[in-house]
Amino acid sequence: MEDTREEASGSEAPAQVIQPRTFSKSSLIRKLRQHLNSSRSRPTMAAPSSGGLEVLLGTLQNAGDIENMLNILNVLDELMSAGTDRRIHHMISKGGSEALLTALVNSARSFTPNYTILLPLLHLLAKVGHRDRQIGLKAQKADAVLVVLGLLRQNTESARRAAACLWVLRVFCSSATAAELLGKNRGLDVVFKLISPYSTKHLRTIKAAIDAFAAMLRSKVNCRTAVVKGYIADLLKLYEDWHSNDVNLKNIPIRRALLHCLQRAANSAVCRDALVAEGGIRLLFQTTQTCLTMKGLESLVEPAIQLMRKCSPKVPLPLTSDKSAFSFPLPGRSVDDWDADLGLYDGSLEDDSDEDAENEEPDNRDYEDDLETDVNKLRPRPEPDRPLEQLGQYVRLCPELHHDFQDLDSSSEVDESSDDDGTLEGDLNDETPSDQRGSELPSDRDENHVQTSDFHKHYLNCSRKGQGHSSMVDRLLEKYGICIPNHDPRLYAATAANTKSIAGYSILAFPDFWGHLPPQEQEPMAKRPPHVQRKKVFQDVQRLICPEDIINKVVFDMDDPSPQCSPDMCPSSLRFFSKFESGNLRKAIQVRSHEYDLILNADVNSSAHCQWFYFEVSGMVAGKPYRFNIINCEKGNSQYNYGMQPVLYSVREALEGKPHWVRTGSEICYYRNHFCARRGQKHSFYTLTFTVTFRHEDDVCYLAYHYPYTYTTLQTHLKMLEKSVDPQKVFFRQQNLCDTLAGNSCSLVTITACPTSRAWKHLHQLRNRPCVVLTARVHPGESNASWVLKGTLEFLCSSDPVAESLREAYIFKIIPMLNPDGVINGNNRCSLTAEDLNRQWLKPDPNLSPTIYHTKGFLYYLNSIGRTPLVFCDYHGHSRKKNVFLYGCSMKETLWQSGSPINTASLKEDPGYRTVAKTLDRIAPAFSFNNCNYLVEKSRASTARVVVWREIGVLRSYTMESTYNGCNQGIYKGLQTGTRELEEMGMKFSQSLLTLRRNAIHYNSRLIHHASALLDLDDRLLDHKSNNCFEDDEPPCMEEIEYSSSSDPLGPNELDTEVNGNTSSDEEDEEDAGIRRNGRRRSDRKSHAVPHCLKQDALETLTIKAGPCNGINISNGCLY
Ligand SMILES: [Zn+2]
Repeated sequence: MEDTREEASGSEAPAQVIQPRTFSKSSLIRKLRQHLNSSRSRPTMAAPSSGGLEVLLGTLQNAGDIENMLNILNVLDELMSAGTDRRIHHMISKGGSEALLTALVNSARSFTPNYTILLPLLHLLAKVGHRDRQIGLKAQKADAVLVVLGLLRQNTESARRAAACLWVLRVFCSSATAAELLGKNRGLDVVFKLISPYSTKHLRTIKAAIDAFAAMLRSKVNCRTAVVKGYIADLLKLYEDWHSNDVNLKNIPIRRALLHCLQRAANSAVCRDALVAEGGIRLLFQTTQTCLTMKGLESLVEPAIQLMRKCSPKVPLPLTSDKSAFSFPLPGRSVDDWDADLGLYDGSLEDDSDEDAENEEPDNRDYEDDLETDVNKLRPRPEPDRPLEQLGQYVRLCPELHHDFQDLDSSSEVDESSDDDGTLEGDLNDETPSDQRGSELPSDRDENHVQTSDFHKHYLNCSRKGQGHSSMVDRLLEKYGICIPNHDPRLYAATAANTKSIAGYSILAFPDFWGHLPPQEQEPMAKRPPHVQRKKVFQDVQRLICPEDIINKVVFDMDDPSPQCSPDMCPSSLRFFSKFESGNLRKAIQVRSHEYDLILNADVNSSAHCQWFYFEVSGMVAGKPYRFNIINCEKGNSQYNYGMQPVLYSVREALEGKPHWVRTGSEICYYRNHFCARRGQKHSFYTLTFTVTFRHEDDVCYLAYHYPYTYTTLQTHLKMLEKSVDPQKVFFRQQNLCDTLAGNSCSLVTITACPTSRAWKHLHQLRNRPCVVLTARVHPGESNASWVLKGTLEFLCSSDPVAESLREAYIFKIIPMLNPDGVINGNNRCSLTAEDLNRQWLKPDPNLSPTIYHTKGFLYYLNSIGRTPLVFCDYHGHSRKKNVFLYGCSMKETLWQSGSPINTASLKEDPGYRTVAKTLDRIAPAFSFNNCNYLVEKSRASTARVVVWREIGVLRSYTMESTYNGCNQGIYKGLQTGTRELEEMGMKFSQSLLTLRRNAIHYNSRLIHHASALLDLDDRLLDHKSNNCFEDDEPPCMEEIEYSSSSDPLGPNELDTEVNGNTSSDEEDEEDAGIRRNGRRRSDRKSHAVPHCLKQDALETLTIKAGPCNGINISNGCLY
């Protein structure tokens, strides 16, 4: 902090405060030596006001003596030339830039400008200015901008002086106003004249002119001028000229500078338009193609591709409307309201961040600003948001508390809300008489031919009641019989009949119907091929260049029910389909013979949130690579750039006994594309591209973002579980928490142990068990959360001794799917209201967000009867991080991390919120303790985790985030997670809860045998600090996902090298020969700023100083 203050005062009050002094050479040297000697004993940087540096700078501005000035410049330059940039920054903080500017203006304005002084001054100014962010403003203040432009005008014939002026102008242009000032004074013309066509002379000056011209394009006004004067077209011609003449590859830096200049221009829309109109994209495409074939031109390819991406004209998605193909009338809102809302929709205002903070990449500062620092908002606030009388309705959701267990031995109570399909009661293994078998079975016609139409027709039949629905299922099952635990295809088909979708789906996706078993093999993360994105972008640009090569045929369109492309009409095209639960393909366009653009349907009633996908594809040729581009993804980055693959399910393989979703796809990458929303160009999209080579001819395959898990799957699973448990031991009850907007049931499951008898003691024990409340799938695209929850449910229903203990220790209240409507209709993020339900917890609307309203109400109810849950956990998926981890809430950690002045030591907080994570770190291989975080952010104030913690008063209130990709630690390191690992995580989470009740558990030998590791934990907290949860775990991507940032390709060192090169020769205009002879120069900052005209004693001084640390405390970065 102290340094900053010092710097601030230094720049406000530069060296002018020091009395001007003049020194003779000898006195200067004496003075310096004194400083050098005295500095030996001073280890700190705190410079006294009359320090040596200030003296030098003060003298520089006032000296009339050339030799004195040269000495000082030389000393300064030497000082700056060794060591790190710290020294230059120190000099800047001491008013170094201002001193140099004043000296420059004074010298330049003298009657006969003396270039013996001016040239080294310009050189030093370029080096210092390049590191001074304020140099542009300082230059304007000192009137130096036009002075240097004037010098340039006078010296256009002298390459060396011109180069020095150009470098200084370029650093001045770090300020857009300085750039604009230059533009107004015809600076663009002066500089552009110095950019010559291909030449072998004055290369350094030409490059300096290109760089300066690029810098001037920081100003939008200058960009317009450049377009009007035809400079953009000229720059393109120059690039082509240098490209075609540079056969020996000697002028790569100039070519790169020209590209950079065009990139700068492309920041402005007028320049982009001009660039496209002048055939820039075609030119860049062609030149880059040549570059790709030659070695050593790597540094030209990347900027050229970025430039092409940036200039590619924005094209609206090929849809008639951005709005979802599905709309749903909402209670209390008219259709007109809704349209108005959509019109106002602005993607940039959207908080699309997950509880997992997906789309945000703020720096640490922003994150700290987001932390809640208001202690009152971090303190519990247990008064309900609704009248207490209303809570009475939730009594029914605690059947275990009121059950009298009179029927302990029959336990046949059927819950009214469970909507079992009556036709399914009875023995599921009943065989249908063979005479009822359908004749349209695929196997009847051709063993190896799988026809989608057969399947679609077949599902259609089997999902309708009373139409002999079981025959097809039975035939298939009989022939290919599979056994997937807790799954039954016939039950699935029957359950599906009760699932209400907006589109009225009547066809089932085969994988959901048939079931999935995790494959045996491990699935390592995919290796990203080098330059894969470059290759893909190049193919994308090719579409613009050669539109005649593009097929552009719509082969599937959700909006247009007439089949766009029947198998007979286009036998060579793939066929797509997604009119089934959780499916969401909107449109498929064949681009090339084996390439398809796919557009996802937006969330219902909205125009956005595309990321999740699930669709069917058929009609493929085996062994041929097909490229799929999902062109309307919305997140800023994805684990698809870091080894994640989509999942594929093959019907053929399933019928051959391998019913697996498997990770698939090669050449995967995720990058920003040139499509924009119809509603406005500002809303841009990302492409997920991957290539699939299908193994079987004419297979029917399904592709998805992640392992699908539909609402019907859940309902089927709950029914299977209920049937699987021993009702004498396990109290399992599925109830309807509430109906969703579309009329689907939101289930609440209660699991606990039945009392051993109806004795008061046992009933009392049951009624005093603490509650654990688990929820999942509030975000429909996060199917991984459902698989984790499946693991939890199955474990809790199992006969494992740990599960038995858990049931005896707790009453589990589980809401496995908080957003059924979203899941059913293929949404990614929202409910039917187009709102993120995990942002509704502060004040949930009973009509629009019933599942949240009633979940919160139920929690209030538990609170009101003195049964506040011991643990609350909401299961989520995280698309940008690896591993599984918890977010929790801690007042102390939040205040501490936010730098709040509140003395956290005086605040009391139970550290028990860490125990679960600590246990999971020991027992769950996918779990990573280091990814956990207990900070309360303002932006998360309305999420389940924060509201349940604060308003319900649950100390252990968590979000559990599971990766879509895989792990970067532990035994699963480098592997993608499968459903097996996700389910295991759910099991481990339940197990970890045992540690919270160690003292209350009834120990028996079986439990001790199974859970010794679990119970053997000590409660010492691990030394762990909450991490910034916004941080991306990934290193920056090798290839830019975005293309809008054009960083200056020239580091300070490159400029230094060029400046130093300008002083290497005594003869002004011969430097080009020198440069060519020497090739690339050293990149260190070795000083050459001062011409070799110093007198011998000055050189002595330099020798003393330049020796290795001889007296001067160089390591401290300054001269006192
Ligand atoms: Zn989520």
